[in-house]
Amino acid sequence: MSSLWPGRKGPGVRYITAEPSLEWQQKKRRSLVILGSTGSIGRSALDIVRANPDAFRISGLACARSVNRLAEQAAIYRPDYLAVLDTEAADALKKLLPAGCTPEILVGQEGYRTLASLPEADTVLSSQAGTAGLAGTLAAALAGKVICLANKESLVQAGDLLRHVCGKTGASILPVDSEHFALFDCLSGREDDATALILTASGGPFRGRSAAELEDVTPAQALKHPNWNMGAKITIDSATLMNKALELIEACQLYGLSPDRVQVLVHPQSIVHSLVLFKDAGMLAQLAMPDMRLPIGNCLLWPRVEKSHIAPLSLARIGSLTFSEVDNAVFPAIDLARKAMQVRSGMSIVLNAADEAAVQLFLDGRCSFPDITRSVAAAMEHHLMGIRAGGRSEQTPFCLSESMLALEGTALAEACWQMLGTMDALQEETAAFVRSFVQDGTAC
Ligand code: MG
Repeated sequence: MSSLWPGRKGPGVRYITAEPSLEWQQKKRRSLVILGSTGSIGRSALDIVRANPDAFRISGLACARSVNRLAEQAAIYRPDYLAVLDTEAADALKKLLPAGCTPEILVGQEGYRTLASLPEADTVLSSQAGTAGLAGTLAAALAGKVICLANKESLVQAGDLLRHVCGKTGASILPVDSEHFALFDCLSGREDDATALILTASGGPFRGRSAAELEDVTPAQALKHPNWNMGAKITIDSATLMNKALELIEACQLYGLSPDRVQVLVHPQSIVHSLVLFKDAGMLAQLAMPDMRLPIGNCLLWPRVEKSHIAPLSLARIGSLTFSEVDNAVFPAIDLARKAMQVRSGMSIVLNAADEAAVQLFLDGRCSFPDITRSVAAAMEHHLMGIRAGGRSEQTPFCLSESMLALEGTALAEACWQMLGTMDALQEETAAFVRSFVQDGTAC
């Protein structure tokens, strides 16, 4: 079985965690917590659970405020715990639950953390949206769970920290992001021969446009993704290619690679989900219909999926698959991600937080589409000046100090939560910078 898991110490790839225990692998019924169960990933995961009724018991479900949908899910799956963002949502949820359905309702970040570390749960699907997803991922890592990770921001913000924590607690990470699961699949048993990972990108709705043509695009146009049906933030990120930029950082963190070994290729059909280049110049790719139930099912049921959960691929019907280079002059996001990985020292936190703030401003009609990446570039420049002014090293990972590396158990957890507070502060500072940058008219 171990050949299905990329190694942690090889010359080609250093995967972020060890594989899940044999006990977990052989479990007849896994006890699952889904953080973000009402979003598109969470709902697809529940499709997998429904299709494999003997394989899972749902221990907990969580969302932010989509209480109607959460109540419907609770009525079907009867988890012992639910978690929502605030007491208002919790009160609304209580009224929606059917008679006889009385789960404990947890609230806020503390509630998500409790859910992610439930003693009775062995598997956590981390699929909350955005930076808020890190707390749940980190709680699951500290509790030694098998984490099916769909929240890429967790790795973007705290990849070094998660690698360290999982090493201490025995937690494992399986990559749910479709590109990263494709890489995981292609690397199996050959990771030491891998020379480069190649992420495919659809190119989004504005592929082929000039920089001038992007100045006037509207949120409605940017929200129309050609192939994937996803939430608003990730759809805008796909249009700017910031999603691929975050995925480049995610790949570097998952597979322990420098950014020069991760390439991006535009592939508008979204059939080839990613490729691995080996030292013999051969490549392996994973091809399938663009349907998240493929990676979700494979991660939840790893190491063995006995049946298909998606429509079969007919290459003859698709006819042709095309590939081209990214136009980095028009879509600068990927270059910004490479820069963030080279500088380290919190830069990817800044990139991610600046993007989150700028996407919201764009959706609210308060800045233009190109202002999103302009704001991210400006925030990164601002952060770099701060590092230099403070005499700090650009290469230091933001989260790991020498003293932290030695910590275990509760002391490690306390240091992690403290670190999360520092990250939150950097995010807030970055978001404020972006808002003033856009408002001052320097970006618009
Ligand atoms: Mg993806």
